[in-house]
Amino acid sequence: MNQLVKVLSAFAIAVGLPGCIASPIEMTPQTEQGLRAQPPIRFLLTFDDGPSASSWWNPTVTVLDSLARNPLQADIKAVFFVQTRASRAGGSELGREIMQREQAEGHILGLHTATPGHSNHRSLDAPALQQSLSNGSADIAAITGAPPTLLRPPFWSYDKRTFAAYRQQGLHLLLTDLSANDGKIWGFNASPRRRANLLRQLSEVRERIARGELPTVDGVIPVVVTFHDLNRYTARHTREYLQILLDSASATGVKLAQKPFYDDTAALQRAAMARTVRDSSQAVKLPGIWNWLWNSNPH
Ligand SMILES: [Zn+2]
Repeated sequence: MNQLVKVLSAFAIAVGLPGCIASPIEMTPQTEQGLRAQPPIRFLLTFDDGPSASSWWNPTVTVLDSLARNPLQADIKAVFFVQTRASRAGGSELGREIMQREQAEGHILGLHTATPGHSNHRSLDAPALQQSLSNGSADIAAITGAPPTLLRPPFWSYDKRTFAAYRQQGLHLLLTDLSANDGKIWGFNASPRRRANLLRQLSEVRERIARGELPTVDGVIPVVVTFHDLNRYTARHTREYLQILLDSASATGVKLAQKPFYDDTAALQRAAMARTVRDSSQAVKLPGIWNWLWNSNPH
């Protein structure tokens, strides 16, 4: 299929998505038995595209405040995959200040982009990709004192070539298990079916857990969740999203650790590293329609 047609139809599907979220997978006795042999899960929260450079009601700041103070667990730590040179994100004075705050509060900074825009790594030639990775690593090192070890590519788009470039730069690729589908790429912000969406996705993850497919780290199974902190809707609803995750766990029969979210930076780093993609030929499941979109353009 022609790429433009594909992107347009993907857009149509995404816009139509609120109407067609499948119901959660039903728990079978086999799944139930498999789950009993597994440790509890802990949600590993990640945020893409920030930090916001907005001086008016900054959504990233709202996300940070919500993680620090909420009714469920104090001082939750997350991984922020930042855009270090985008003028509306980390390439701004305010953006750099917020990245400092993220570091100071024990969050982890990972690399998302270091180009002026949200460039697809696969569309960058070798020198441009390498330059953007080394720029981004240097930008983050200037904030945290050490180059980042985690990377998430824009649009979840990578291939053998970009994967090798990440490795050369000491960057490990982290994908996701759950996605709030709140990326601005589709042109809408609100997520009216957020609860049904996360419930369905967690029921899929539960099946993988029951089959023993997810690693255990420090006695728990990290389940990676992705949000977009530039999204004002997400920012306003961060506390509600935390509650939805807990509700989804109980509704799908997934055991939660006593601490349902990470609140220790070193443990967060270990868990994230354990979930990174080992080699570029590893089969992966991308959120939403992305597998479908990229698989027709073989890596
Ligand atoms: Zn992004």
